[in-house]
Amino acid sequence: MLDFITTERKLQSALSIERYIHTMGVVKTALKMADTFQADRYKVQAAALLHDCAKDYPPDMKRRFCKEFHVNVDEIMLNCIDLTHAFLGAEVARREYGVEDEEILDAIRYHTTGRKNMGIIEKIVFIADYIEPNRKAFDTLEEARKLAFENIDTAMAFILKSTIDFVNERKRPLHPLSVEAFEYYSGIVKLGGNI
Ligand code: FE
Ligand code: FE
Repeated sequence: MLDFITTERKLQSALSIERYIHTMGVVKTALKMADTFQADRYKVQAAALLHDCAKDYPPDMKRRFCKEFHVNVDEIMLNCIDLTHAFLGAEVARREYGVEDEEILDAIRYHTTGRKNMGIIEKIVFIADYIEPNRKAFDTLEEARKLAFENIDTAMAFILKSTIDFVNERKRPLHPLSVEAFEYYSGIVKLGGNI
């Protein structure tokens, strides 16, 4: 089991102040969601706490650690090195923070791109990352905050759509995992008649 106090202390030196504040916001929101959806509070807290643990590594360090930790870096991540922070973060959580639980590691690994058929811990961290209270207001934030506690799959579809639109508007490369995830969740939501 992770000692959260020690982990928080370690994160404080690995992250910028803003990132640390963001992280604590994600933990708070994720735990609220864990209670709403009866998810394992320990796993949710561990994954939320560590989700951005590799985000503030400088680009060269990200590249080097990806190599060293055998993180698969595809073409899209190579062009947008920041995208590796989720996949690399899972490996850093395993090696530097001693996390062994695959559910926690997957939640860290897929918190940026999403993927189809995510587990409850993965969905909670993905959504909490988007809606945490320290996020500056933007168009789709209030709707996402509302959906997050009403229907978690609708929230997934909504946030994935907003993220895809955002990336496309900026003409940045879109990760295929996100497209796959959006197709999957918008399909589920349609079946359920919620959108
Ligand atoms: Fe992140
Ligand atoms: Fe984050």
